[in-house]
Parts: sequence; structure tokens; C-alpha cells
Amino acid sequence: MTEIPLQHHIAPSGEQITVRDLASCPPPERWQDWVEYDARAWPRRVEKRYEIIPTICFNCEAACGLLAYVDKETSRVKKFEGNPYHPGSRGRNCAKGPATINQVDDPERILYPLKRTGKRGEGKWERTTWDEVLETFARKIRAAIIEDRHDEVMYHVGRPGHDGYMERVLGAWGIDGHNSHTNVCSSSARFGYQVWCGADRPSPDHANARFILLISSHLETGHYFNPQAQRIIEGKMKGAKLAVMDPRLSNTASMADYWLPTWPGSETAVLLAMARIILVEKLYNCEYLCRWVNWQEYMAAEHPNKPQTFDCYIELLIDLYAEFTPAFAAQESGLSEETIIDIARQVGHAGTAFAAHTWRAATAGNLGGWQVSRALWFLSVLTGSIGTPGGTAPNTWNKFVPAPFIKPSPSEVWNELLFPPEYPLANYEMSILLPYFLCEGRGKLAAYFTRVYNPVWTNPDGTRWIEMLTNEQQVELHAALTPVWSETAWYADYVLPMGVGSERHDLMSQETHAGRWIGFRQPVLRVYKERNGEHVQYTYQANPGEVWEEDEFWIELSWRIDPDGSLGIRKYFESPYRPGQKLTIEEYYRWIFENSVPGLPQAAAKEHLSPLEYMRKYGAFEIPQEQAPVFTLNERELKPADLEGAQIDELSGKIIRNDTTIGMMVDGKAYEGFPTPSRKLEFYSPTLKEWGWPEYAIPSYIRSHVHHAAMNHDKSEYLLIPTFRLPTLIHTRSGNAKWLYEISNANPVWIHPTDAERIGVQTGDLVRVTTEIGYYVNRAWITDGIRPGIVACSHHLGRWRLDTSQGTDRWSSALVELGKTQDGIWRMRQLQGTLPFESADPDSSRIFWREGGVHQNLTFPVHPDPVSGMHCWHQKVTVEPAYPEDSYGDVYVDTNKAYKVYKDWLAMTRPQTHRPDSLRRPLWMIRPYRPAASAFKKQDS
Ligand code: SF4
Repeated sequence: MTEIPLQHHIAPSGEQITVRDLASCPPPERWQDWVEYDARAWPRRVEKRYEIIPTICFNCEAACGLLAYVDKETSRVKKFEGNPYHPGSRGRNCAKGPATINQVDDPERILYPLKRTGKRGEGKWERTTWDEVLETFARKIRAAIIEDRHDEVMYHVGRPGHDGYMERVLGAWGIDGHNSHTNVCSSSARFGYQVWCGADRPSPDHANARFILLISSHLETGHYFNPQAQRIIEGKMKGAKLAVMDPRLSNTASMADYWLPTWPGSETAVLLAMARIILVEKLYNCEYLCRWVNWQEYMAAEHPNKPQTFDCYIELLIDLYAEFTPAFAAQESGLSEETIIDIARQVGHAGTAFAAHTWRAATAGNLGGWQVSRALWFLSVLTGSIGTPGGTAPNTWNKFVPAPFIKPSPSEVWNELLFPPEYPLANYEMSILLPYFLCEGRGKLAAYFTRVYNPVWTNPDGTRWIEMLTNEQQVELHAALTPVWSETAWYADYVLPMGVGSERHDLMSQETHAGRWIGFRQPVLRVYKERNGEHVQYTYQANPGEVWEEDEFWIELSWRIDPDGSLGIRKYFESPYRPGQKLTIEEYYRWIFENSVPGLPQAAAKEHLSPLEYMRKYGAFEIPQEQAPVFTLNERELKPADLEGAQIDELSGKIIRNDTTIGMMVDGKAYEGFPTPSRKLEFYSPTLKEWGWPEYAIPSYIRSHVHHAAMNHDKSEYLLIPTFRLPTLIHTRSGNAKWLYEISNANPVWIHPTDAERIGVQTGDLVRVTTEIGYYVNRAWITDGIRPGIVACSHHLGRWRLDTSQGTDRWSSALVELGKTQDGIWRMRQLQGTLPFESADPDSSRIFWREGGVHQNLTFPVHPDPVSGMHCWHQKVTVEPAYPEDSYGDVYVDTNKAYKVYKDWLAMTRPQTHRPDSLRRPLWMIRPYRPAASAFKKQDS
């Protein structure tokens, strides 16, 4: 075997990759025939030959590049390693990436479509055919469309893959049926960003920052762990300072220069105090604020009698935030005044190289959590670091979503099960309330797809989801599209096995750094067969068993819903190359790569490849910056053609064409600006004022429902953080990854030593954690890594199954009994912990962990934030030593109490149902699937 040459390599994008990056990775010219010694044969030197095929990890949203090593002898994937030609991950992965091989080889995986034969949830299944599945769903959906029951078909997604693919499918069907998991995840953080700038995610340029402030560790230890974490460390190596606000000493906080363990919910107070210091000490970017913030709009609307000058605006700001002194922020958060002042000054001095990020954590835990991201973006605005090198951009500046060959018009339908009148500003669908809405008779579902989504386990009040899924009047037909068994799939009519990351096509792009790229997830065994001369019509023919890929499923289903094209659906699933013929998945991507990705055809031509061949070879492409710039895009000047027929509003400077604001005059130039109504950064949000929340028209502090004043430790009351991620697990999808469970297999309750002493428990003791609607029993872990007064429990573990040998993977689940009494009480008790089992994988008989964690989410009621709609996860709980009758893993839930809590939070909303413009929601605000503008207006008006 030849040594790998240690040289500098030039990536296809032109980027130079250092020797160290590639030292252990085969160069692409040898990917078709790569030779390694078989590690198991050591010390003998036995050669193994591989074909290396790139794909994309599916184990979190970051979409890192993977290289699949296909063993030429067995034609099976042997292992996954990082792809150095992927611009986001650059060859580095977290533990979850290589663990994809466990998911491929999992002896517990579902290989064929299953149909229930008993009652829902009874656990009786038979193997069925894909043909039967497709016919059943096509009939049901076709009838709903023909009978104008467009709100009865719903696709409910947990982990999305390809951006835009399902929106295209649902648009072709003419329905408003996209539901997501986002309001248990990030909708609050997104809302705070959207109000400011029209984009709902931040994209920090950590590698070039001088100061980095993270509110949470969630993203860095969970979501974009690898692409963002590696750039944070790069920034630190170049001298950047890192501060992490998190009550828990997370992996990220342990790498920080400043760990800021704030009381949850007080982050906004701290950030506003920092903003005030920056203002008072004149550390703000005067020119940027003056040009790009809608301060004139604010002054005209709220202070018409004051001088309409920028200086007066600054004076007003200092006055507005007068109460946010370091002393007040210290009292709210528990940080010291000195630390708050010190960090504020460092942020101010970092100027345009201040990078900031928040995701989940404080935003997802607290009532009003969206003000945390709004206040954090305020610091970015004050320092003028929006979309600068070392600053933080709107995600849309660093993400690239190429257009497909034909797009349906948006549907004319508005589904109130998704966006009900009580939540006109909800940033995403009111997903967690679906069972309540169905229960209240607001609608029903004729066909319901859950896709890589496990609401029974993941969502608060999961027993209500069981009640919904077992009610055949509320949900007539349910298919769980999933690569792995889940608690929700157990209650489905059909369980449809879908490919893991290396068994499907998708197109991915994420805001991992200041750049734009696309990653091509591809089914490696299909590619392998095709390269070796085999014809593969459908991906399932190459995958294990009959595991389908979803792209093909939706094409086949759509074709069957409209076989003769009379519903106008079929045309969207016909080939762009062979008119009238059914689209193949290869044609779908081929067209995109040939027509929608700037620079790709040219890069491919240089290597004498077609764009599709190029993407099959490298698995990723970075759009050259000259074709897709990433910095200060608000300053893109409008072209003369854009300005044709446009008018300029003298007072505001808005450039309006066809009733739409397309840009903004600043200093005599016509700029694109930001996608907000004012085209500026909206410190002042007329939207919030007009839609019922005038007190929140500017960034402000909302006291959380778990404010420390509400806790009495003498009564054993504590704040529970139930949201934190472990870097090694993937929500509910890693139960099939043995390596990951070997590392992380328990979720004890973190308790500070002072609290443990008060409660009277030690590490390993059982504690009962009581919420508003029930309790769970778990072990205590006493640690200084949590702030006193707060307890925390990771959300990953506590998987369960109801049958000895089927259901949720035995690597991770306990066997439980679960039942409901007449008076609405649900109880769960573990019958058996996690045990070794016999299978084709000898490791399954070596399982050493016995307690696989406790399912805490069942005991949480819904807490939808009245503005953003986000479920506010944090809870006031009591923590006590377990009772004599308690066992590890016990769960008790009172559904009557849960319903009352739902009603209490619903009463906090301010529905805007009698607006003169009849709008259900501001037209400018984004929606994941956006119907036509006409659907935003209520029909009866
Ligand atoms: S960070 Fe996410 S995408 Fe990247 S390897 Fe880990 S799990 Fe996979």
C-alpha cells in the first residue's frame, strides 16, 4: 500500500486545504479504489479494497460531509469518516457522524413496510407492500382534495431534510398541511430575530471574531456542534474571547473565558444592561445605527413632539433603558455587576467583529424567551456587526437554497389547525396544540404523516398525543415515515421504513460560517451499484430490505393521487427532460445542478464532469463568493431594472413598486436593505404594536414564568431545565446507535451540592420531581456544574417500549407498562430496564447499561408563549427524596390538570380576529410553507 502523500491540496472551490486536514484522508483521485489494511487482521497485513462515496450526515441539522467506505468484497458500507471537501465540516465530524454505521447495521431496524392488524397501539403488525401503502394513501388524499377538505391532510416533520422539497409537494397538492416540530425547538429564538431583520436565524462568523457571546451551549454541543465549534476554537486561537451564558457548565461553557450562569429568563435583563453601557459609554457604531435602524419611524410614531434627530434618539434610548443598570441586571441574573460591565465593554470594543448566537436554551425555556434573541441582536446592531467579517449575519446570507425546475403556485388554503387565530404572530405552526384542537372539534385529519418525528415522546403532555393517535375519528389514517422505531410509530396504522443518512437523496445547506455551500446527501449503495454497471430504478432496490427514500415516495404518491393529470398535480412530477414521463430522482437533482447553482457547471466542466457527476463525486460545493457574496448584503444596490416604475416615499425613503417595498434610499443611494416592512433593522416593531402587543414594540424584558421570586427552596421548589442536549445523542433518533448509547445512557437530575444537602439526597439516590401535572422518579447527580436553585435533566433519554421484543430499539429502551384510569390519570412503570439481547450483532449481548433514563416530558404541560407560540420548557418543580412506593422511571400524569394549564396559557393570548384588513397574520412574516397572499385574508370577510 502506498503512503498518503502529505501535501497541500486545493479544494474544488479553490480553497487551500492544509496538510493536516488531509493527512488521514484519501485524496479523491483514489476514492474509486482505496486500499487499507484490515484492522482486525493485525498484526498480519491484509489488504481491504474500498470504494469511497460521499454523502451527508443526517444525525443533526448541520449536514456535515461523510465519506462512506464501501467494502468491494461484501458490497456493504464498512464505515463512515469525514469528507474534507465539505465546506462546512471540512472533514471533521462529531461522534454522531461515524455512528451512522450503527444505524445502517442495526439489527432492530425496520426493513419492510408494516401495517397494523389489531387496534391502534396494540402492537400487532403484518408486513405489507409499498404498492398497498401508496394506493391507500393516494385514495384518501385524492378524496380529501376533490371534496375540498384541504386542511385534512397533514405532513408533520421532526428532522427535515432537503430545503423546499416538501413545500413543493404540498404546494402541488394545493394544501396548507406542513406542520413541524419547531415550536418545541426554536420558534422563539427565531421570532426575536425575525422581528429585527426579517430572517429568523443568526449566522456568526466565529472564526474572525474578536469577542464571541453565546446564550446557551445548545447549538455548539448539539446542532452545529462540529462546524461551529471548530470555528469558535479557530477564533479563540486567533485571540478572540468567548463568553457563554448558561446556568449549566456545558461542554461549551467549559471552553469559555467567561462562564455566566445566569438565572434562566434573566438573560434579556443582562443584555439590555449591556446595551445601555454601550450607549452610555459611546461604544456604539454611530454611522451604522444612523443609517440602518428605523429610528426615524420610531421617533415619528412614539415621540412626534421631540426633535426628530439621531442625537435625540440616542438620548431617548439611554432614558428608555434607565432601569437596566448593572445592579438591576445583577439582581435578576445573579452575575456580578463587574462582570456585566466588563463583558459589555468587550462587546463594544469588538465592534464589527462581535459574533453572537443563541438557540433554544433561554429562548426555548422561558415565557418571553424571544426577547432574549431580540436583545442579543440589539448588541449586534449597536456594534454594527451585522453581516460583517467576524460579526453575525442573517442566516439567509449564508445559506443557499437552489430552485427546482418547476414550482407550484402557493395554495389558496389557510389551515387553522396550524396557525389558529389566537396566535397570529406564531413563528411556526402551533404544533404542540394539535391534540387539543382536534379534541375541541376544530377539525380532523383524513391523512396524517409523521416524518422522523416522535411527538408522543418529544412533546409536552405526550399522553394526550397517544389519546389523539388512538382516536380514529380525529386521525383517520396515520403513517409514520421513520428510519427507526419510535414511541409514536407504535400508534400508527402504517410504519414506513425510510433511509438513514446514507440511504437517501437530499440537498442541504446550512449557515455554518461566512460562506455558502450545498451538500448532496446520496444513497451510497445505489451510487455504488450504478458505478459498477447495475441499473437501479428506485433507491429501495439498493437499500437494505425495502427501505425507501422519501423523495421517491412523494413522487410515486403524487403520481397516484392524480394519475391522469386532471387535478393539476401530476405535471409537477413529470420529467423536465422527457415530457409527460414520470420524474426520476436523478433528473430532479440533475436539473438543479445544471441550472440553479452558480459556478457549479463551470467547476464541473474543469474536471470534464457534468454538474451531477461532480456532486456525486465530491458530495458538496461551495458557491464562489464572487457569485454569492456573504457580507453586508443589505448594501446591495438596486439595479436600474428594479427601479423601473418604482416610487420613493419622501418621508420614509422606502422604494415601492407594485405596492411592495423593494428597497430603501440611504444617503441618496437605492439599497436592497433588509426584508422587513421598513427595509431597515426594526428596533421599533410597528407589527408588534399593530398586532396587540404595543408594550413590546421595542426590545424589552419579560419576566419569565420561572422567575426566581416564584421559587421557595424551603418548600423544595426549584427551577427545572429539561432541555439540554448531550453532544452524543440525537433527540429520539439515536436509540439505534450502539456506540452513542455506550457513551451516554442515563439522564440523572443535576443538583447543586447546597441544594442536595437541603433536599437530603446524594448522587445515585432516587428523587421524585413533581411538575404541575404529575411527577417522575429519577436518580440524583450532585454536581457543581449547575447553578444553585436550579436542577437540570437532559431530554434525550428515557426511551420505552410496550412489547418485550418489538418497538423502540432494545439498545436504548426499557420495557414499561402504561395505562390510564377512568379519572384521566396515566401511570408508567418500568418492568425491565435495558438488557442484553441476542441478535446478529454480538454487541447486543454485551449491553452493560441497565437504566436507560427516565421519560420526563410526559409530565410537562403545554406552555405556549402567547406571542411567539413557542413551548416554554422550563418548569417550577418540587424535588424530594423518592417515596417508599416509588421506582426508578415511574411517571404519573393527571390529564385534567394538563388541560387546565393549556386553557390558562391560551387565555394569555390576544387574538386579532376583527382587524379592518381581515388579515390572519402580517403578510410580511415568513411561514415555513407559505400559502398565497389571498389565504392570509379571512374568506368570510
Ligand atoms: S455535527 Fe451533526 S451533521 Fe455533523 S457529524 Fe455531528 S451529527 Fe452529523
